[in-house]
Amino acid sequence: MRYVSTRGKAAAVGFEGALLAGLAPDGGLYVPETWPRLAGDDLAALAGLPYARLAERVLAPFMDEAGRAALGPLLDAAYAGFAHPAVVPLKQLDAGLWLLELFHGPTLAFKDVALQVLGRMLDAALTRRGERLTIVGATSGDTGAAAIAACRGLASMDVVILHPKGRVSDVQRRQMTTVADANIHNVALEGSFDDCQALVKAMFNDAPFRDAMRLGAVNSINWARVMAQAAYYVAAAVALGSPHRRVAFAVPTGNFGDVYAGYVAHRMGLPVARLLVATNTNDILARFLETGEYRPAGVTPTLSPSMDIQVASNFERLLFELHGRDGAAVEALMTELARKGRFAVGADRLTDARALFAGTRLDDAGMVDTIGRVFRATGETIDPHTACGIHAARAAGLSREVPVVALATAHPAKFPQAVARATGREPALPAHLADLASRPERYTVLPNELGAVQAFVRASAKAR
Ligand SMILES: *Cc1c(COP(=O)(O)O)cnc(C)c1O
Repeated sequence: MRYVSTRGKAAAVGFEGALLAGLAPDGGLYVPETWPRLAGDDLAALAGLPYARLAERVLAPFMDEAGRAALGPLLDAAYAGFAHPAVVPLKQLDAGLWLLELFHGPTLAFKDVALQVLGRMLDAALTRRGERLTIVGATSGDTGAAAIAACRGLASMDVVILHPKGRVSDVQRRQMTTVADANIHNVALEGSFDDCQALVKAMFNDAPFRDAMRLGAVNSINWARVMAQAAYYVAAAVALGSPHRRVAFAVPTGNFGDVYAGYVAHRMGLPVARLLVATNTNDILARFLETGEYRPAGVTPTLSPSMDIQVASNFERLLFELHGRDGAAVEALMTELARKGRFAVGADRLTDARALFAGTRLDDAGMVDTIGRVFRATGETIDPHTACGIHAARAAGLSREVPVVALATAHPAKFPQAVARATGREPALPAHLADLASRPERYTVLPNELGAVQAFVRASAKAR
């Protein structure tokens, strides 16, 4: 499979090229040149397979020969550490609503499902090439923890993660800072999440530094992450009767990576009835689906912090499809966004988007209310991100024949205060993290200065 850029100017690359580059050199995102198809018989044959085997069949057509040969054992290793034997168990909540639990990985959020795969794929490609990378990233909590869990102990990379000092939860910080492997380096920055992101961007824009340190990223625009997520849409749908039955998905959304993976599954032939884009108060995508205008506003902190995002990077991949894969058209929209702080798409493109996607929003009071209702009605405890999806499923007004799968993106114990407010009890951490609060922490406090952070990265990186 070849990969092309959403901005149309970069040369096509193979799977490994897209994996190692992350962003395309023209500033676009890589997408497959064509959509591989899973025919009805192929889908039917997936029912009942262990998750790693099912994922292998979904992922293989996106990869090259070398990657495909190693894929089966790689997926087995990636999912061996999950706390549930089904990896992504599907739980029925009521007559037409299911919960797809994506939080049984090492850091209790759905990001583990893809990052456990991405870390291993990067390591295999780098080892084969005899290369090393220095991964740098900024986190508001979940991504950094999942990236660290995925890359700890790997000989092919050092990982430097910046988090805003005092502004991530205790559980989130400890998940990062209690990892003892020598290739993991945590920075508590004296600044905000935006400051962390700005510093990471500045390091990538400093070309001599970037090349000397061999900087790399594991953020959500990496194609391999999207691809790995498409597999659980397929797993849930075939468990509920696809290809003979259409299924809808409700997806708590921030960066549009997860719900775009649902779109990928749809393009591969999965009969997806609807993709519900569930947002919190930071509702840029819900507003787009209502009006056709994409206009970032300021970020408002909410009880679902992993969705407190106003620039949904992966949305560019959908824009590319809505514009008939015209890279120049996407480039023009992105230029307009940079210049005017907004863009709008035409009525026909909005109609196309609405044929599959619908947006909803939920404020903090609504999240608490939804967590409480689900708990009282079913005994299940959900987290505030998942609550946004459940609300979307209930608000969608879909036909009774269409089962709705709500993606449970985080374990409730990751957000204990909000959950306790709704249910009256604080959810316990799973056994493998029960002693998290007593494990020794290791991190370096740095001022919000590029020079200081670059010096730290230089000292941490072994790639020279
Ligand atoms: C990252 C995250 C999301 C948002 O996913 P996107 O792919 O950015 O849309 C939702 N819920 C949780 C718990 C997350 O960690």
